[in-house]
Amino acid sequence: MNNVYYGKLIFELSRPGRIGYSIPKDHTGEEGFAALPDSVLRKSPLRLPEADEQTVARHYTNMSNNNFGVDTGFYPLGSCTMKYNPKINEEMASLPAFTQLHPAQPASTAQGALALYYETQRALSEVAGMEAFTLNPFAGAHGELTGLMVIRTYHERRGDTKRTKIIVPDSAHGTNPASAAVCGLQIVEVKSTPQGTVDVEDLKPLLGDDIAGMMMTNPNTLGIFETKIPEIAKLVHECGGLMYYDGANLNPMLGVCRPGDMGFDVMHINLHKTFSTPHGGGGPGSGPVGVRKGLEDYLPNPQVVKKSDGTFAIEYGNEALGSVSPHFGNYAIIIRAYAYLLSLGRDGIARAGKLAVLNANYIKEALKSHYLLPIEGLCKHEFVFDGLRPEYGGDHHDDAHVTTLDVAKRLLDYGFHAPTIYFPLLFHEALMIEPTETESKDTLDDFITVMKKIAEEAKSDPAFVKASPHSTPVRRLDDVRAVKDAIFRFQFD
Ligand SMILES: *Cc1c(COP(=O)(O)O)cnc(C)c1O
Repeated sequence: MNNVYYGKLIFELSRPGRIGYSIPKDHTGEEGFAALPDSVLRKSPLRLPEADEQTVARHYTNMSNNNFGVDTGFYPLGSCTMKYNPKINEEMASLPAFTQLHPAQPASTAQGALALYYETQRALSEVAGMEAFTLNPFAGAHGELTGLMVIRTYHERRGDTKRTKIIVPDSAHGTNPASAAVCGLQIVEVKSTPQGTVDVEDLKPLLGDDIAGMMMTNPNTLGIFETKIPEIAKLVHECGGLMYYDGANLNPMLGVCRPGDMGFDVMHINLHKTFSTPHGGGGPGSGPVGVRKGLEDYLPNPQVVKKSDGTFAIEYGNEALGSVSPHFGNYAIIIRAYAYLLSLGRDGIARAGKLAVLNANYIKEALKSHYLLPIEGLCKHEFVFDGLRPEYGGDHHDDAHVTTLDVAKRLLDYGFHAPTIYFPLLFHEALMIEPTETESKDTLDDFITVMKKIAEEAKSDPAFVKASPHSTPVRRLDDVRAVKDAIFRFQFD
């Protein structure tokens, strides 16, 4: 819908002298800041937009209408687990008993909040098969960094200082090598087999006394279950390294199997994916880190502990690693995750993962007639197509044909969020679909119908697909220019 507010910045709607607030008179009878001494007043006014309340309301409402979220429609963004976030979680996180807490108030006055924190630590330990968890990290990548710091500190404390390398599969999420580099570790890449899993033969020669550990994602970013983990864990442990599990993709494993039982020593979970707390556009997040028995002392401060008298306390006893966050991380996200855990319960949690796997396989099997499936077989929560099949105009060597980007753009016209594209890097035209368990069969069938329709369009009228989207607020954006020539502030003059 187009109107005068549409597509404008609030600065463009600004008119000199328009105002959307009134400031009460102060005790001197003066309005606003007149009674403030000159010494604390600005010398020149801030260049803020001047707008009446109605303009501001319309501006933000129009903007929110142009947004797309899980509450708007299907959001099959692979690797991101955009499942529906039940509203009860929001209600719980909004309770004044939580929102009015101060992080520095005495623990004796916040026992309920600490109990929630402690119980979440225990629940995650149970789900993951780990000894202890910290909920302090703010995101998956922050959890990776924290977990790698645990591994590095573990080696350093043993005086084993030559372990400076970490093995990362070529299919890994980009945050894995990035976190390792921030942690000061050198990245050694291990290749995948044509079946998409870690190549054990490629791994063997990489192992030695300079290896701090290995990072693995399971199911990996292709949505494939890594079947050789026990063998890999044995090899890495024999060479003195630790196994790190990127648990951002834990969703399909919930209640079915546990990383701790497979030989992983350190891991993170993304509460904002698997445990159904809202995310997107960069946050908010929470990336709790779990460790196996023997590594608890390397977790960051503070910890929430349960004392023998049943009360909860905040401790700063771990001197090895220090803190990775002020206070307790994203507490409101942890409330949401706890509400989710309790409302699903043990049985519900165990069903979620299986349904996520069923939904992904349902779409994969329905669409492989039109899209190229490079790796056949059962997937877990997600899978990757390598673009359109050649019969539908797909061509991996020629961008004049309909590409994955074109398919993703055309999907927007049909009211779906695009899947993840061009990741993982193992395929040229990667199109990565993760439906999650919260979508109904009706939605999956709609999506399948539309994806097939786009394939037919690509065959009959490729130019039309290449010119999409046709019905979105903005048409195809110049991605390259957006990166090279980014404008981050309003240009007044
Ligand atoms: C999402 C994701 C991450 C990173 O999590 P953030 O919270 O975005 O930092 C890491 N690994 C995998 C496999 C992921 O899917």
